[in-house]
Amino acid sequence: MSSTLKYTSLEEIAFAHELVHKTFKAGTTRPLEWRKQQLRQLARMLRENEDAIVAALQADMKKPALETISFEINPMAERSFASAEMLDQWAQPERVEDVPDWQKSWAPTIHKAPKGPALIIAPWNFPVHLLFEPLIGALAAGCTAVIKPSEVAPHNAALMAELVPKYLDHSAVRVVNGSVPETTRLLELKWAHIFYTGNSKVARIVSAAAAKHLTPMTLELGGKSPVVIDGAHTDIALAAKRILWGKMNNAGQVCVAPDYILVDRAHQDAFVASLEEAYRDFYPDGALGKVSYADIVSQSHYDRLLKLLKETHAKKAFGGKVDGHRGIEPTVFTNVAADDALLEGEIFGPLLPVVPYDTLQDAVDFINERPNPLSLYVFTDDQDVKQTFVDNTLSGGLIFNDTFTQLYVGNLPFSGVGESGNGSQHMKYTFDTFVHNRASIDIPPEAEAILGARYPALAAASA
Ligand code: NAD
Repeated sequence: MSSTLKYTSLEEIAFAHELVHKTFKAGTTRPLEWRKQQLRQLARMLRENEDAIVAALQADMKKPALETISFEINPMAERSFASAEMLDQWAQPERVEDVPDWQKSWAPTIHKAPKGPALIIAPWNFPVHLLFEPLIGALAAGCTAVIKPSEVAPHNAALMAELVPKYLDHSAVRVVNGSVPETTRLLELKWAHIFYTGNSKVARIVSAAAAKHLTPMTLELGGKSPVVIDGAHTDIALAAKRILWGKMNNAGQVCVAPDYILVDRAHQDAFVASLEEAYRDFYPDGALGKVSYADIVSQSHYDRLLKLLKETHAKKAFGGKVDGHRGIEPTVFTNVAADDALLEGEIFGPLLPVVPYDTLQDAVDFINERPNPLSLYVFTDDQDVKQTFVDNTLSGGLIFNDTFTQLYVGNLPFSGVGESGNGSQHMKYTFDTFVHNRASIDIPPEAEAILGARYPALAAASA
């Protein structure tokens, strides 16, 4: 499958920007029926083109079909459809009853006003999911949008440019393809909201561009998501299996992938032995070359990971094979020192450093000395230990006793905090991102009985 990704010209970008503004102004996207129809069309597009999407992601990163269907197509088709079902409820003006008695006749109401034309910039690792999760919210909210798939997954980007105009209103949703020059042009233009998913370096470029127009933003970023093993209070074999599965998904190229393990020193060896056992159970003759195990997306990311493999001073416990075709086997390191190369940036690949800790407080301190992670995983059955992490750490999400599964739970907000991002998404939370909560009151003449006291003449008379 060859990628024929055509970049959008700067003139076409200007046209797309103008068109989505014109369509929004014309009121096309306001009727709830239009929004529901678009959401159902999006679900239909994903269902009718499953094979083509699977093939595109296989060509881009050898993403296993099961992963594409389970984590890209199914959740987006389901959430798009479910959002259409929920829309009447979400979009209804909200009457606020909890006001003082003397304000009750003022009809205090929150209108869910669509913000306007949105810019959505997606990354390559979940190139379908992360393009459409924000679009679902934007369409539900009654916004128009320009969506920018990642050029790092070119087969997907080309397919989206072909499919989206066939299924969605092409005057309301436009696909722009390209790399830095095209995205830079998009960012120079004025939008009602920018929704960026990707790394924190580019997030700073996006933020600076948004600041020029005072544009509100959602930043869905990444970072190093730690896993804490409380060895005395957890089933170590089960924990190892659940962690390894979460780490092997898309070969570790996942924003919420377990980045490093903190395990109490007494259980480090047993935990690593269980990880290795789980790996041998999953892949008796290794994961490399298997259809159910992804490649690294590009030569530059592959080289970055090979460099890390060279630079680390940590002891390798198992794994470490590479195939020269962008395949890297899951590779686990033990007794990793806090200043090791593996603990510097987000790994975003199948390397897994294990760091022993002496006391639970040491583990808490280790996490708190670093930027707020997107996800924090804690394996323990002890309620007090759970509460310790609730009360003493901060992360985008906090997951006990599994990894990755938080992405399934569409009715909980998904977000980073601090360095891992801000603003949230998933179903109603994405809808909320793209609406302005427009406060409204309507003061009846009878309110003069109370408001009359504010006028100067009367105030003076009673003084
Ligand atoms: P990427 O390289 O595809 O970049 C993301 C987007 O930014 C692309 O559309 C790209 O064209 C654009 N871009 C790149 N350089 C730019 C520049 N100089 N100016 C303007 N735009 C530019 O993807 P990535 O950043 O490598 O994605 C991986 C990162 O995203 C990881 O850090 C990961 O943790 C994070 N991520 C976060 C989430 C989340 O929901 N929180 C989900 C997935 C990935």
